[in-house]
Amino acid sequence: MATEATADDASDAPEAYETLLERARRWNTIGSAAGVLAWDQQVMMPEGGTPARSKQLSSLSSVRHDMLTDDETAELLETLADSDLTDEQAAAVREIRRAHERAAAVPVELVEEISEASSEALPAWEEAKATDDFDHFAPHLERHVRLKREYAEAIDPDSDPYEVLFADYEPCLSIERAEAILTELRETLVPMIEAIRESDADLAVDTFEGTFPTDDQEALSREALELVGYDFSRGRLDVSSHPFTSGNQFDCRVTTRFDESDPLGAIGSTIHEFGHAQYNLGLPQEHWGTPLGESRDLSVHESQSRLWENHVGRSKPFWELFLPTVKERFPQVADATVEDAYEAANQVYEDNLIRVEADELTYHLHIIIRFEIERDLVRGDLTVEDVPEVWNDKYEEYLGIRPETDAEGCLQDIHWSHGNFGYFPTYSLGSVMAAQLYAAADEAIDDLDDAIAAGDFDPLHEWLAENVHRHGSRYETNELVEEATGEPYTADAFIDYVEAKYGELYDLS
Ligand code: ZN
Repeated sequence: MATEATADDASDAPEAYETLLERARRWNTIGSAAGVLAWDQQVMMPEGGTPARSKQLSSLSSVRHDMLTDDETAELLETLADSDLTDEQAAAVREIRRAHERAAAVPVELVEEISEASSEALPAWEEAKATDDFDHFAPHLERHVRLKREYAEAIDPDSDPYEVLFADYEPCLSIERAEAILTELRETLVPMIEAIRESDADLAVDTFEGTFPTDDQEALSREALELVGYDFSRGRLDVSSHPFTSGNQFDCRVTTRFDESDPLGAIGSTIHEFGHAQYNLGLPQEHWGTPLGESRDLSVHESQSRLWENHVGRSKPFWELFLPTVKERFPQVADATVEDAYEAANQVYEDNLIRVEADELTYHLHIIIRFEIERDLVRGDLTVEDVPEVWNDKYEEYLGIRPETDAEGCLQDIHWSHGNFGYFPTYSLGSVMAAQLYAAADEAIDDLDDAIAAGDFDPLHEWLAENVHRHGSRYETNELVEEATGEPYTADAFIDYVEAKYGELYDLS
């Protein structure tokens, strides 16, 4: 405030810091209230509620945006720019400053235009997908590319626009490191999947064939959550068309979905969302509403869900523990062995074209294809009209399969109808990080496999809480991984993991 004459005196730093944090708590409270409304919209709200809910959410979002970008926030950040802060305080200010600068850089009209473009693109994408008509969606995709390039230009005209968009999801991870990791994945996985295609290994892929009623699957999902230690006094399980997690350290809820012919799908997504929830529930309560009490970005969040889904939920020790419970619910699998369940849960669907139905291994090539295409679109190296053919060529080159239609090709995902360029890579980056974190946890914990087989998840929970959850956004991404594992963030642990696991499953030399 102008009346407080000594605003840039270093001795004012503690007070300015407290004032800034108090403001951050207020706008973050508004953000988390919006989260509850969004959860309700996807889980509980009657269909007719949409018009009111959209207004509620956009009002909260603009109140939050105004607080984040207004002069008082700018002045407090200015005051704190050269002051003596503790490491923790400096981290909190760094996070708030970044959010403030990005939000302030983009003209409100552009934000509104992007939101309008998304509202119009969504039904067009739905129709294009339903009728297999890429041309119907193409003008919307073109508009998104143009708007998102403008958006990137407003934030940082001197940087590669894809890098700027990527930073919306991964502000603390360099695009160079991300690209290096994705390239290494591609170079490892393409030949590995080719070898799996040629393998004669005979996996027990039909272990879970048949019909598995939804009610029993729901009961089983609850049992799985109880087994891994979900705190139902601070969470709940519901059903939604796309599984997701929503909440904070006091109340973090998960959803799942059921397919009567695929019980493994529900188990996998329930455990996946549990990993996300566990991260939020483990954030320090005393820092709620400030960056020190908020999760790091998408790749770190996805590392927590993938760690539980893949490294725990797809492991032999887990199936030793869980299979008896599955058999109680589903007598039709009474004869299955732990090895059968393990093989079924880890089979590679080498002819699958659909990302959301992919296995742990081919999944990353689905992601890399999207990453390469959106990066080239945003950088101006690819035109929208060429997307379908480039998509199909890449599927043929990387996965050995070619989509027959665009509906099962470049129109399959919702993300580009929102203009979300830069989001896809975070899925793979999270899986890679999960492998590195799990390897470190396994190294640090005596007999982790035995503990899991015995249903004792405490050592793993404690390791994750200590090394990841409690830090909130204190460290930047690579720093967090280094603090937790003693090594920089690379694809090495992931590659070791998949080579060992799939080498054994498919007798690869
Ligand atoms: Zn996830």
